[in-house]
Amino acid sequence: MVTSVVGLNWGDEGKGRMVDYFAKQADCVIRYQGGDNAGHTVVNDLGKFAFHNFPSGVCYPKVINIIASGSVVAPDSFLHELAEVEKNGLKVENIFISDRAIFIMPYAKVLEKLEEQRLKDKKYGSTMSGIAPTYGYKYLKKGIQAGELFYPEYLKEHIKDIVDYTNLLIEGGYNAPPIDSDKMYNYLIETGEKLKPYIVNTKTMVDKLLDEGKNIIVEAQLGALRDITHGIYPYTTSSSTLSGYACSSIPIPPSSIKNIVGITKAYSTCVGEGPFTTELFGEIADEIREIGHEYGAKTGRPRRIGYFDAVATRYGCRLQGATEMTVTCLDVLSGQKKLKICTGYDINGKITEHFPINCTLNDAKPVYITLDGWDEDITSARTFEELPINAQIYIEKLHELCGVKISYVSVGPKREALIKMK
Ligand code: GDP
Ligand code: MG
Repeated sequence: MVTSVVGLNWGDEGKGRMVDYFAKQADCVIRYQGGDNAGHTVVNDLGKFAFHNFPSGVCYPKVINIIASGSVVAPDSFLHELAEVEKNGLKVENIFISDRAIFIMPYAKVLEKLEEQRLKDKKYGSTMSGIAPTYGYKYLKKGIQAGELFYPEYLKEHIKDIVDYTNLLIEGGYNAPPIDSDKMYNYLIETGEKLKPYIVNTKTMVDKLLDEGKNIIVEAQLGALRDITHGIYPYTTSSSTLSGYACSSIPIPPSSIKNIVGITKAYSTCVGEGPFTTELFGEIADEIREIGHEYGAKTGRPRRIGYFDAVATRYGCRLQGATEMTVTCLDVLSGQKKLKICTGYDINGKITEHFPINCTLNDAKPVYITLDGWDEDITSARTFEELPINAQIYIEKLHELCGVKISYVSVGPKREALIKMK
């Protein structure tokens, strides 16, 4: 049986935190999109971790963790993360990379940097991890599959062909120093020696787990509004963040996904560029950013803060096919006198409850309802009834506006700081 744990917003909803909680009951956790641009924070008895490459089930030795075929992997970054977490007392061994995952090569980062520099104030706000060029190359059929490491002669020629093409762009287009094909080959051979034990045919592995009726969690790395097709294009990521993509990425049969848990924060956050309709500036934003430690887990960049956006979150629920929702970070809102929730967008005098295409969003003004806040510290609440009445009303309003059952409310970053709803 497969449970999907996915983001309903712009990312950083607390997916890692929830996967770490659900993984207690799981046999396998699979990351199905993106690369090491992720930052999934997990806080439990073993410590505090921000996972970039790893699926969020790695804190349980018995759980098999898989980086799926539709993901991209930076060899040096993966090995670095293994060493880093081990330094922090976590030995990750039960982890596998699909032999069809595409490598993030150093020249992808060069291309990304050159392009963001060229774009100046029109830049995409990339994490500079080389994700966009790597997925772009994949669809241009110029990617390197992880399993090619086992075929060095093939790999050498393949790299040369791709580097020849890359230099047309880098030297000819950007007038920058060319990439050396031998250097790229040597980089893969050197890192590859350590990486090889992790690279397997993950499809047959997953097929077996499905046949045995094991519990599998599939995990996205960003939120619905960053989906390459349905998100705030072009301020999206370069792959699909939707639960449906797990089916083609891993792959698993669509019918195997039984629950789709959409994660949202009790307010909005967004890292990087792009329209953000409910964005707050000044005191309230600063207060929420400090209380919620809203700094990117990958880049350390301050996160943009906004009121809860029911237009965007309802859309996120539909995109994901969410069968239930988890609301995280409710505790961060304690102390706010009034809380606004965006129920519609006013676009040039026309009010809509539907999330429009990106190019109209710069004109969107939020239409708000206002609820009363609460003062109490709620971090030790473990039942809905223990929450102050205004916090209960707030949660019920989110449910009503999004139209999806809320199954958990998170009141702290630690694994057990959770209210299970009846
Ligand atoms: P992800 O990318 O979706 O896994 O989310 P991130 O880890 O990037 O960001 C979520 C942030 O919120 C992290 O710093 C978590 O530790 C934190 N967090 C998650 N749930 C809660 C919660 O209920 N309360 C508080 N205060 N922090 C939380
Ligand atoms: Mg994150």
